[in-house]
Amino acid sequence: MKLYNTLTGKIDKFAPIDPKNVKVYTCGPTVYSYQHIGNYTAYIYWDILVRTLRLNGFVVNRVMNLTDVGHLVSDRNDGEDKMEKGARLSGKSVWEVAEFFGDDFLTNFTRLNLISPTKIYKATDCIEEDLDLIRALKLRGYTYETSDGIYYDTSKFPTYADFAHLNLEKLRAGARVEFNQEKRNVSDFALWKIIKKGEKHDMQWQTPKDLWESEAMGYPGWHTECAAIIKTEFGDGTIDIHTGGIDHIPIHHTNEIAESEAISGVRLANYWLHCNFITIDGQKISKSLGNIYTFKDLAERDFSHLDFKMWVIQGHFTSERNFLFEGLAAAKTRLKNWRNWASLRHQQATAGKKKEIVSDDFGILKALNDNLNSAKALSIIDGIISRDDAVPTEDFLGFLDDCFGLELCETTPNISPYLQNILKERAIARLNKDFAKSDKLRQQLLKKGIDVLDTANGQIWQYHH
Ligand SMILES: [Zn+2]
Repeated sequence: MKLYNTLTGKIDKFAPIDPKNVKVYTCGPTVYSYQHIGNYTAYIYWDILVRTLRLNGFVVNRVMNLTDVGHLVSDRNDGEDKMEKGARLSGKSVWEVAEFFGDDFLTNFTRLNLISPTKIYKATDCIEEDLDLIRALKLRGYTYETSDGIYYDTSKFPTYADFAHLNLEKLRAGARVEFNQEKRNVSDFALWKIIKKGEKHDMQWQTPKDLWESEAMGYPGWHTECAAIIKTEFGDGTIDIHTGGIDHIPIHHTNEIAESEAISGVRLANYWLHCNFITIDGQKISKSLGNIYTFKDLAERDFSHLDFKMWVIQGHFTSERNFLFEGLAAAKTRLKNWRNWASLRHQQATAGKKKEIVSDDFGILKALNDNLNSAKALSIIDGIISRDDAVPTEDFLGFLDDCFGLELCETTPNISPYLQNILKERAIARLNKDFAKSDKLRQQLLKKGIDVLDTANGQIWQYHH
């Protein structure tokens, strides 16, 4: 397998630490509002990653977080907590907001048929672990206090700029006027925020005495949460793969690395996979442009989760994609064609004897192994479908479902004996040239969602979508 690795800036051969078990961490969503379709593209790409690893025989131990506290409006730990802001806007408590949107995210995750991570951690369930991590950093001399929190001194971590190729000089020169004057370096970030008197923050925990002398409530920073979850689950060693969005590179992942590696002394992850953005009608997704679409919006236009999944895997995680409804309609048609083809496995007898496709002799997995080139894999499958002389077997469709999770088998079950009898009756009616009756039976089948096609080899059926 080969993967594009942000760490090296090139496509690397994948060499796991353990020959069998692969450790993967995925930065999850901040659950303060409905996630838009652009947010889900990342999880669809990483689903292809996990599926490809599995098809190569690896056991994937994958952890994901749900950020339900501490993700501030600005990634550099400035501004309001996104969760608190979400609550203020909706009139609910922060805990209610976190639960509601967390559940909504996981419901869509399931409906996209994405392989569930081995474990999902809520940030609010890991506060002790966050404090342990901060303690370990303090012990090693990486922390200092300001009036609003415990900060990480990035000048103490000599390779801080390396991962994202940051130009710290330039960053310093470009620091805005509102730069927190108490910070030693512009790139320093809060490990733990202290809630000042008169400040309102629903989610808060006691700051332990060994970290903060006076009585104070506080909450963890977003970067601390991911680093602490990885440490909790995988220990201080190196993990195989860490995934996220390209927007995470300069701050969030740079800070995760600074926190983890300062303690462990070893590399946090060997492979860093970052997915690119999607634009909508050529524009950045933003509230002010009114181009934020959720799955509810897609459903109203008669598009399913799997239609969207098909659209996403037509592209590559490293490329910026432009979303258009025309493009989504084309993906929907493609999926429909695949399903019609999948349903042919039930009708070898009626469709005329054809060659059966049993296994991947076409290089589908090879395409996925080549830096997750799902677009190429899909075009190989289109090539197979366009052949008129072969039908897939259940096993082969099962393999395709393992590759992409498009539920080809599940969405095209065989029709019931009752409907099969109607098909037989219709075949007899046609033989007797009783076209009125055959039309009536066709209508009856259509009501059950079955289209009948008359071919040179007799009638075959497919699902009416
Ligand atoms: Zn993260």
